[in-house]
Amino acid sequence: MKVTIDGRELEAKAGESILEVARANGIKIISLCYHAKTGPAAKCRACLVEVEGMRGLQTSCTIMAKEGMRVVTNSDNVRQAQRLVVDLLLSSGRHDCLSCEKNGECELQEAAYFLGIERPSFKIDDLRPRDSSSEFIIRDNEKCIKCGRCIAGCSSTVVNEVLSFGYRSSETEVVCDDDRPMGESSCVQCGECSQLCPVGAIVNKNSVGNGRPWELKKVDSVCAYCGVGCRLTFHINTRTNKIVKITGIEGAPCNDGMLCVKGRFGYDFVNSSERLTTPLIRDKKGGTLRPATWAEAIKLVADKFSRVKQESGANALAGLASAKVTNEENYLFQKFMRAVIGTNNVDHCARLCHASTVAGLASSLGSGAMTNNIAEIDRAEVSLIIGSNTTEAHPVIGSYIKRAARQGKTKLIVVDPKWIELADYAEIYVNQRCGSDVAFLNGIMNLIIENNWYDKKYVDERCEGFEELKAEVAKYPVEVAAKLTGISEAKLKAIAKMFGTAKIASVFYSMGITQHTTGTDNVWSIANLQMLCGNIGMPGGGINALRGQANVQGACDMGALPNVYPGYQSVTDPKAKEKFEKAWGVTLDDKVGLTVTEQIKAAGEGKVRALYIMGENPMLSDPDLNHVKAALEKTEFLVVQDIFLTETTELADVVLPAASFAEKDGFFTNTERRVQRLNKGIISPGEAKEDWLIIQEIARAMGATWQYESACDIQEELRGLTPQYGGISWARVADQGLQWPCPTLEHPGTAYLHKEKFARGRGLMKAIPFKEPNELPDSEYPLVLTTGRVLEQFHTGTMSRKTQGLNNLAGPKVIISEADAKALKIKDGDKVKVSSRRGEIETRAQVCEGLIPKGTVFIPFHYVEAAANFLTNPAVDPVAKIPEFKACAVKISKV
Ligand code: SF4
Repeated sequence: MKVTIDGRELEAKAGESILEVARANGIKIISLCYHAKTGPAAKCRACLVEVEGMRGLQTSCTIMAKEGMRVVTNSDNVRQAQRLVVDLLLSSGRHDCLSCEKNGECELQEAAYFLGIERPSFKIDDLRPRDSSSEFIIRDNEKCIKCGRCIAGCSSTVVNEVLSFGYRSSETEVVCDDDRPMGESSCVQCGECSQLCPVGAIVNKNSVGNGRPWELKKVDSVCAYCGVGCRLTFHINTRTNKIVKITGIEGAPCNDGMLCVKGRFGYDFVNSSERLTTPLIRDKKGGTLRPATWAEAIKLVADKFSRVKQESGANALAGLASAKVTNEENYLFQKFMRAVIGTNNVDHCARLCHASTVAGLASSLGSGAMTNNIAEIDRAEVSLIIGSNTTEAHPVIGSYIKRAARQGKTKLIVVDPKWIELADYAEIYVNQRCGSDVAFLNGIMNLIIENNWYDKKYVDERCEGFEELKAEVAKYPVEVAAKLTGISEAKLKAIAKMFGTAKIASVFYSMGITQHTTGTDNVWSIANLQMLCGNIGMPGGGINALRGQANVQGACDMGALPNVYPGYQSVTDPKAKEKFEKAWGVTLDDKVGLTVTEQIKAAGEGKVRALYIMGENPMLSDPDLNHVKAALEKTEFLVVQDIFLTETTELADVVLPAASFAEKDGFFTNTERRVQRLNKGIISPGEAKEDWLIIQEIARAMGATWQYESACDIQEELRGLTPQYGGISWARVADQGLQWPCPTLEHPGTAYLHKEKFARGRGLMKAIPFKEPNELPDSEYPLVLTTGRVLEQFHTGTMSRKTQGLNNLAGPKVIISEADAKALKIKDGDKVKVSSRRGEIETRAQVCEGLIPKGTVFIPFHYVEAAANFLTNPAVDPVAKIPEFKACAVKISKV
C-alpha cells in the first residue's frame, strides 16, 4: 500500500505502524517507549504526528498505515507538542547528563537535542535515592521517564516478571516485586531492563566510570558460557584494552538481545590480573612452576612428546580438547593428536555431559545433535521438559520456553526430581525418583499405545522396531510405572494424554537425562517416544538436547572424540581413514582411542605417560576426584594449556598461556547446530596466544609442516573434510550464523533435522528395559546425591568465579529437604559434612521445603572448596562411557 509522509509517497506493509514506515524510510520521528522488541506502548507520547482526517495529534507507534494515508511529522504543531512532552519528561527528574552513564547514547538526551531544548522549564520535585542494592544493576528512578520498556522486557521478553508500575498518578514509578530494593527482589539480573532503558534510569553497575559511549569500540561475538550461544557485543575501551560493557545483539536468532547474568556481567575473567601471561615450567615433580620463554616451553613439550612416542608408542599419549575454544582450534587439536602424535586418544568434556546424546540419537535417528531450533520453541503445542533445569543452565532458552507458556502457545510438562522454576509455568509438574527416567518413559509410551494416541502412519512409514518396543513398554502398566518412578497413576495418565494427543510436542532435556549409567538408554527412550508420537522432522517438535558449554557441539563436530574424525566419520571406517590420510599426508591409527575417564585411568596405570590438556579442568569436572588426582600425579608429563592456573595446572609439568574467547577469531557451534562467529576484541595479556597458534608451534617442533596463518585458513581446510560444514565458509557466517548440515556454498543451512526421513533411513525404535542407578542408597549412605549447575556459576568456575558479584550471588551449598534436615538435626545455614564411599566434603546446608524431595540432596559442582565430584560415582554408561554424576549414595552429618 502507499502512504504519504511529509510529502513523500512511501510503500508500507499491512500491520506496519506509521512510526515503522517512517523509520524504514529514514524519516526521523522521536519516540522513547517504542522498541522493536517490546512493541508500541503509547506511554511517552513523544512520537506525535498529524494524520489527515484525524482530530488532534496521534501517536505514530499505534497508528497503523492505511492505503492513501497522509501524515505530517514535522509541522509547528507537532514540534510544539513534542517539545512539551520531552520538556515534561526532562523536568520529571534529575537528568544530570554530564555524569550520566548513558550520556551519548541516551534517547531522551537525543530527543531534547533534536527539538532544541537546552534545559527543562519546570521545577524538579524531591529526589528519590538511587537503588544500588543489586550486584550488577543501578536503578535511578529520578531519571526514569516511565516509558515502560523495562517492564515490557522483564515481563514479556525474558519473562522474569519482576518489574511493574507501582503507586498511582503522578507518584507512579517502576518497582521491583512489591516495591523491594532490587537486590532483595526476585530479580535474576539478566540486565534486559538496562539494555532496553532509553535513558540512564537503569544502568550496569560494572560499566560506571569505565568509558563514555563514544570512546568505546564495539565488537560482535558469542558468549563463552553455555550452549545457547547468545550473540553479544563487547564495548571496549581501547585506551585500557578492557571490556567495559556487554550487550546482547537485538535480532540475533538464538537470543534476540537477551543475555543472562553470566553472559552480560560475568566477563571480569577476561581482564583479570590472574590471567596467565607467560609459559610456566615445573623442573621437577612437586617443585614450583617458573616462568619460561615460548621457545623453551615448546621445545620441552615437543621433545618430551616425541620421546614418549618413540619409547612407548603413540598410544602412550593422550589429549583433551575443549568446549571453550573454537571449532578451528578443536579441529587442529584432534589433527595434532591423530596426524602428528598418531593416536585416537582424544576426547573432551562432552564425554561428561552429552556423550549419551551423541550415542543414543546417532543410533536411533542417525544424527547425534539437537534436532530443532530455538526460534521455533513456541510452535509446539506441548513441551516435555525432563532432566533440564533450563532457566538455570540455559537461561535464555528458559525465557523462550516461559514466553511460549505465558502466551498460551505451549503447554509445559515438567519432570524433574528437584523443583525447578519452569514447574511454576507448567500444566503438570512431577518429581520422579532419581534415575527412574526409562520407567517413566516406558510407562507413558505404554499408555499412549494402549489409548491409540500414537501416530500409526508415521510409525509405519518412517520407523522400525515398533513391535519390540510395544512388547517392552507393555511391561510397564501404569501401576508398575507409578511404583518405579514415585509419580502417581493419575499424573502419569494425565501426562500421557496431554503429550500423546498433542499435534506437535517437543522434548527438552539435558544432563538430568544423560549423566547416568543408563544415559544412552534414557536418550534412546526419548527418541522412542518422539518417533511413536510422530514428532520428529517438523518445526517446533523434535528432541532438543541442550548442550552444556559454549562450543561443546562444535568440539564434537570437529572430531574431538576418540571414535570419529570431523563430521562423525568413524576412525574404524577404512574409507574415512583413507580420506583423512590423503588430506593430511600421514598414516592414521584405525583403533578407537581412549575416552576422558579411560585416559585418566590409563594415566594412573602408567599406560598413558603424557597428557596434553587444552582448556579443561579434570581436577574439578571428573568424577571421583581423589582417583583423578592420584592418576594425574602419576602422569609422567602433563601439559595444560589454559587462560588461568587451575586445580589441574597445580599438577602440570608445563603450563601454556592461552588467549580468551574475547581475544580470538573463529567459530563456535551452539546447541541448535548454529555456527556463529567470534571476533577478536582485545589484545591478549602478556605473551598469551590463541590456542591454534600454540598447537601449530608444537606440531611444527615435532616435524609437521603446517602453515596456517589464520583461523580462516583452518576453517577452509576443515569444511572440505566435514560434509555437514561443506558450505560454511568464513564469509558466509554473517550476523545470523548458519545451521549445519550445510553441505554446499549454495545451501541455506538446516533449521530442523530428519524432515522427510531420518538421517539413518528408518528411525530405529528399541526395547529398553529399566535399570536402577549403579549405586542405590542403603543404611550406611541413605541419601541420593544429584549434582548440577546454578544460574550464576559455570562449570568448574574457571571463568565465572573471577567475577565477585557472581560469587556473592551463589556460593557452595547442599540443598536438603526439610524432612531430612529435621531428622538429622540440621538447620538452614549449618555447616555439614557430606560423605560417599569415595570421599567427603564440607559445605553449608540450604534447607528447603518443596525444592527437593525427602531422601535426595543436591550439590552444585562448581566449587573447589566443596567439590561435589569428590563424592560422585565414576561408574559409566557402558555405551557412551559417561559417568553417573546424577545419582550416588551419600550421608550427611552436622559439623
Ligand atoms: Fe546466553 Fe548461555 Fe551466555 Fe547466558 S550463559 S548469555 S544463556 S549463552
